[in-house]
Amino acid sequence: MTYIIIFVVVHWYLSLFIQTFFHHRYASHGQFKMSSFWEKFFYIFAWIAQGSCYISPKAYAYMHRLHHEHADTDEDPHTPLHFSNALSMIWDTKETYRKIWIGETHIPEKYKKNVPSWDSFDKMAHSAVSKVAWGALYTAFYVYFAPSAWFYLLLPYHYLQAAIHGVIINWGAHKYGYRNHTVEDTSTNLFPIDILMMGEGLHNNHHQQPANPNFAQKWFEFDPTYPIISLLHKLDIIRLRRA
Ligand SMILES: [Zn+2]
Ligand SMILES: [Zn+2]
Repeated sequence: MTYIIIFVVVHWYLSLFIQTFFHHRYASHGQFKMSSFWEKFFYIFAWIAQGSCYISPKAYAYMHRLHHEHADTDEDPHTPLHFSNALSMIWDTKETYRKIWIGETHIPEKYKKNVPSWDSFDKMAHSAVSKVAWGALYTAFYVYFAPSAWFYLLLPYHYLQAAIHGVIINWGAHKYGYRNHTVEDTSTNLFPIDILMMGEGLHNNHHQQPANPNFAQKWFEFDPTYPIISLLHKLDIIRLRRA
């Protein structure tokens, strides 16, 4: 039981950390720089953390840049305004992402600048073999440690980890919560102290200042990823743009 709880919590935060730190703040917004060694390190980190729900940092960055440019318009790859429920939106986003990943969607050059790229690794991490192998590993962990078969109901949570994080922000943080800024889109801040989503929930602040690596702006707000970013900067693993 204890091992299952630890796995649920650790998987949530590892997957979320790499998504917000690497895919979002680095690949999509270039809020800091890193050497190609560290870039490859975080690619491998993403593969381990996201496992069966691996998302290509490059394809994510293309889709996310389109979101910022066209938020809540017809060209937005995911806006709650076009869907009656979160599930249909995430299903459609999955298809949009797939078309970007296989190169079917034409991405204008301006969205491709300074996006990290490791195509051979991306291909391996995205392959069915990799995804099934990770899924089998999660399942084996539950077979070994789960006190009863009821716990297997938690397995889809592991298989779909990154998609769950995506829907919370792309749906919830364009629908619920509060706004510090009147921006042209519907973005909101979900939580003032965003322990659950590691700062991603401060989405209205982020839409107003996309280049700012700290998503917290008011005295009562806290973005847990920002102290980690500051630490990685001090350790010379990354270089913050403004530093
Ligand atoms: Zn948004
Ligand atoms: Zn963003």
